[in-house]
Amino acid sequence: MNLILIGPPGAGKGTQAKSICEKFNLCHLSTGDILRNEVLKQTDLGKQAKDIIDKGELVSNEIILEIIKKFISINMNNYKGFLFDGFPRSEDQADMLNNLLEEIKVGISKVILLDVDQSILLQRINKRKEEEGRDDDSEEILKSRLDVYLTQTQPLIDYYSNLKLLEKVDGTMEIIQVNQRINSILEAV
Ligand code: AMP
Repeated sequence: MNLILIGPPGAGKGTQAKSICEKFNLCHLSTGDILRNEVLKQTDLGKQAKDIIDKGELVSNEIILEIIKKFISINMNNYKGFLFDGFPRSEDQADMLNNLLEEIKVGISKVILLDVDQSILLQRINKRKEEEGRDDDSEEILKSRLDVYLTQTQPLIDYYSNLKLLEKVDGTMEIIQVNQRINSILEAV
């Protein structure tokens, strides 16, 4: 089973991803986590990505393709599939993912949209900044990340609806309720 988790910044993708992966033995592929790790280790890739992440913009598709390919080839034999969190973030990236999955002869089972209203996102992001200290969790950067989400990522909702893969989940419910809702969708896959 290969899943994609889509949602605006602060929708709770990371939290849900962790419990879904544990329950269904999936490999959590978070491009944001991988990039933050590269920044922390001060690798060449991390140095290239840092300024872009700090502005809330998208790093290049070339960088994303490189990290995704590497991650998939290292992990593909150890799990029942992947949960893509934070990728794809644009239609070009969705095409990129289709090509990659075609190469390894697997498909996308479901795309879960965590739907959260913009006003709630800001409260959540402020809380996360206090708890995790992420540099890109400031109000100004959130605005830019939201703009990027609305212009580049939101079109994926129609993209995957047309492919009959999209399931919309109300992300404003309690974490446990969101989790139960996702589990029931996935148990039926
Ligand atoms: P996230 O943790 O998914 O919110 O990602 C944090 C930041 O990493 C984003 O604001 C982007 O700058 C960068 N990033 C993560 N995933 C991608 C992606 N698929 N394409 C381009 N940039 C990404």
